[in-house]
Amino acid sequence: MRQPLIAGNWKMNGSKADTVELLNGIKAGVSEIIHSEVAVCPPFPYLYLAEQMLAGTVVGYGAQDCSAEAGGAFTGQVAAAMLMDFGCKYVILGHSERRMFNGETDALIARKYEQAVAGGLAPILCVGETLEERESGKTEDVVARHIDGVIDHGGVDALRHGVVAYEPVWAIGTGVTATPEQAQEVHAFLRERVAKHSAEVAAQLRILYGGSMKPGNAEELMRQDDIDGGLIGGASLKASDFLAICKAGDTVAAG
Ligand code: PEP
Repeated sequence: MRQPLIAGNWKMNGSKADTVELLNGIKAGVSEIIHSEVAVCPPFPYLYLAEQMLAGTVVGYGAQDCSAEAGGAFTGQVAAAMLMDFGCKYVILGHSERRMFNGETDALIARKYEQAVAGGLAPILCVGETLEERESGKTEDVVARHIDGVIDHGGVDALRHGVVAYEPVWAIGTGVTATPEQAQEVHAFLRERVAKHSAEVAAQLRILYGGSMKPGNAEELMRQDDIDGGLIGGASLKASDFLAICKAGDTVAAG
């Protein structure tokens, strides 16, 4: 049984005060979460707050990106080792917003993935198609290309160290969620794609769903065979909604 992971992607939101309030809110309710793993990914400057405030709790944390370089003269970049220094467990890589607004390619993301794993982090590799790609029947081609980028670069074993998040771009921040059937279809495709290289890696790989997941739809999504948790954007900025999604993961995991 794969343990559900519920990870919050806070994106570029909040202030120091908001971060303290949100972390306190999550801490206050997390003792009720038994079966799911819980993690939050605040903006870089607030990772020190996560390190201080989440010490001794079960809530893990991570960053939203890291450099493809190990260190040195790369102004503005943050190395995986620095994230480890702040106690990060996870790093989100290949989010569609970084692909779109920062021009990240599969080749660059594969290098970042390699650095993250070398640094001891667990990457959360985001894959997903745009609406146009879905409507022209290219969903499988696109997500295959996204996951193959990492497999071709580092071998299928690279996926032992990370998590995949299927995030249809048309569902991110739009309030439109993939139906459980639509999501399950792509999750099963991704697992089969990995299984062509290693059935064992495929069986243990957690594949999260992301895209307007909220308390009202989380349980049904996570009840699908190949959906092992969620990457949550908007709803992770409100402690009660985020905890309700974690609770849904718990309910599913409890059977
Ligand atoms: C995300 O950006 O990773 C995401 C899933 O956002 P939202 O939940 O707001 O759609």
